[in-house]
Amino acid sequence: MIASHLVVPADITVSWTDIAGLDSVIQELRESVVLPVQHKDLFKRSKLWQAPKGVLLHGPPGCGKTLIAKATAKEAGMRFINLDVAILTDKWYGESQKLTSAVFSLAAKIEPCIIFIDEIDSFLRSRNLNDHEATAMMKTQFMMLWDGLSTNSNSTVIVMGATNRPQDLDKAIVRRMPAQFHIGLPSETQRNDILKLILQSEEISQDVDLNRLSKLTNGFSGSDLREMCRNASVFRMRQLIVASDQSGEALDRNNVNITMDDLLNSHL
Ligand code: ATP
Repeated sequence: MIASHLVVPADITVSWTDIAGLDSVIQELRESVVLPVQHKDLFKRSKLWQAPKGVLLHGPPGCGKTLIAKATAKEAGMRFINLDVAILTDKWYGESQKLTSAVFSLAAKIEPCIIFIDEIDSFLRSRNLNDHEATAMMKTQFMMLWDGLSTNSNSTVIVMGATNRPQDLDKAIVRRMPAQFHIGLPSETQRNDILKLILQSEEISQDVDLNRLSKLTNGFSGSDLREMCRNASVFRMRQLIVASDQSGEALDRNNVNITMDDLLNSHL
């Protein structure tokens, strides 16, 4: 079951070139995660330097947190374990305890490795009196395994968590993730960059005005922008098919360019 969530770098299909508008986050991750993995021998020579064991990515849904985590693993040549929180929380305590230990020991064996936990708050939220005893024990065990990573300074295993609700996270967890990045809704300039990236592989008509689209899409996430472009592309193809069906003429394959109207009609 764990192996089905393990991805080796060669199989990670996204890299930093697939991310737009997040240059400063990428630069910081490059410095704090990627370079130390790529130049491990050099960094090990300083007793003052310590590999980060935890990174927190927080911000609204669809803004690229998972994308960034995967691309970081790809760029650093790290393996990537996508730890599905539901798998842990759905099991009875003994079983999830075994699974958690297995994940950490697997990660240490195949290091350098990122253990990615989406919606980390649902699993490691602030402890409270209503916590089921098993939940509290699971959190404690998770933290112990995590702390165990620091005792083996040779291994590079990073727990990377993503959340829309950083305020709900247990403070003890937050302390273990000193590198924190807010990935917010994109600004107009960032939306322009994202639209350029998404549409660069598409055939688009000359009337497509990215500056206007960027203005009109205030509040859209990267995921929303992608969906808008996807809808426009599908709409264009359907239009061609309908036109061909109605006229009885062959499909006009030279006219697949997405138009500004297609995009505006697909504007959510
Ligand atoms: P969630 O909190 O819902 O898990 P997320 O923040 O992890 O969301 P992703 O799953 O990384 O968001 O993003 C969804 C999709 O949106 C990506 O696969 C990508 O196609 C697109 N996307 C989001 N942000 C960007 C961006 N900055 N550049 C390019 N594409 C983006």
